[in-house]
Amino acid sequence: MTMQSTQLENSLLNHIPKKESSFTERQSSSSSALIVPGQTIGVLGGGQLGRMMILEGRRLGYRFVVLDPALDSPAGQVADEQIVGEYDSPMAMERLMDKSDLVVYEFENIDPDMVRMIEAIKPLPQGSNLLRWTRHRGQERKVLQDAQIPIASYQVVTSKTQILEAIEELQLPCVLKVLTGGYDGKGQWVIRTLDDPFPPVEVIEKGILVEKFIPYVKEISVIVARGVSGEVEVYPPVMNIHRNQILHMTISPAPIKEGIRERAEQIAYQLASQLRFVGVLAIEMFVLADGTILVNELAPRPHNSGHITMDIMNPCQFEQFVRAVTGLPLRKPARKSTGIMVNLLGEHQEAFFEQLANLPSCAKVHWYGKSVAKEGRKMGHINFAGDSSLQDLLELVNEIPIWEPLSGQEWEAIFSIANNQVEGRRLHD
Ligand code: ADP
Ligand code: MG
Repeated sequence: MTMQSTQLENSLLNHIPKKESSFTERQSSSSSALIVPGQTIGVLGGGQLGRMMILEGRRLGYRFVVLDPALDSPAGQVADEQIVGEYDSPMAMERLMDKSDLVVYEFENIDPDMVRMIEAIKPLPQGSNLLRWTRHRGQERKVLQDAQIPIASYQVVTSKTQILEAIEELQLPCVLKVLTGGYDGKGQWVIRTLDDPFPPVEVIEKGILVEKFIPYVKEISVIVARGVSGEVEVYPPVMNIHRNQILHMTISPAPIKEGIRERAEQIAYQLASQLRFVGVLAIEMFVLADGTILVNELAPRPHNSGHITMDIMNPCQFEQFVRAVTGLPLRKPARKSTGIMVNLLGEHQEAFFEQLANLPSCAKVHWYGKSVAKEGRKMGHINFAGDSSLQDLLELVNEIPIWEPLSGQEWEAIFSIANNQVEGRRLHD
């Protein structure tokens, strides 16, 4: 526990009403709504995920107050109120709780101990467990193994010698990943030969995950929601294309064989049931040439690859999230059309503004209102929804001069067929 969180604990303990029941107790006593429209949801984090949660939640009639260190954050702009403060500031946290009937987090960079303390005072349906597990790649892998979910072979090490021993055992190529704090490919080193650059010693000493490099044919992901009373809804898998390890494009539905779709949904259902979280979980997976699925990463919240649901699924991942945490019944996701999402990064901003007036009518723009555009920073996304074939929709997206068109390799990945060795089993029977 950090010093700040101890401070916070002391300060918060004074505020715990004597007879306040914890969320877990409420959960077992009732499966009805925890809060009703008109009441206020406090959001830890002011990024685009918070923004899109709030836009959906406001439509349902909830009020929102956001805590973020920066004024005018993407979520703060659309909330009823914004508190400017650090996430580890006891005062800021108290102000947030004073104004909230329920608290959620929208990103992982929150101390799970802090979340536990808030949980003792206000309903925080997402809980701290999933956050704790997914913030640490080593723990994440243990949780996946315990749930009997297939993953790449790996070792957790803390010295260069141990990295070399791990590589000896796993065999090159390997991927080295920092245990905490990595995102969008940051904190990763692909080692194809022993001459490739390794992480600096001080990084290695904090712990490194050495993982077998997976020659996947496709990357897919599944969004799964779990409600307060334990009901689970799984969104159909989407295919993801990364550029420089940042998500570039999502295709829904993923062009995969039926058996692979069923297997991916089954993994999501199994994980959601075993991890017993409340809210939305995103599961990134690799599909190998023989049809094997390996889980790569979990995100304890709505996810970039779920943004396509905003214009082609009812409900979208953000409404489903709000339903899950407020105790409203989840809805079975219903597809409206095929869709493609493309991210708008800092380097696309200029071309995006130039093209805004020329976009086809099937393009739905989602712009996050960030004041500074930086290379690789997610500024917005565009969803293309349509009933045309995937090929036609891809060609239309390819002609838009905001991003580089799909490379030959990317076309190949989209239309390659992974074999389906895995027997698909039906869900919910
Ligand atoms: P993050 O998204 O937090 O940066 P990921 O583990 O998802 O971290 O890695 C980012 C991307 O790097 C993945 O989407 C995938 O394209 C690639 N990658 C990660 N691990 C492996 C691996 N073991 N084998 C091959 N590619 C990988
Ligand atoms: Mg990832």
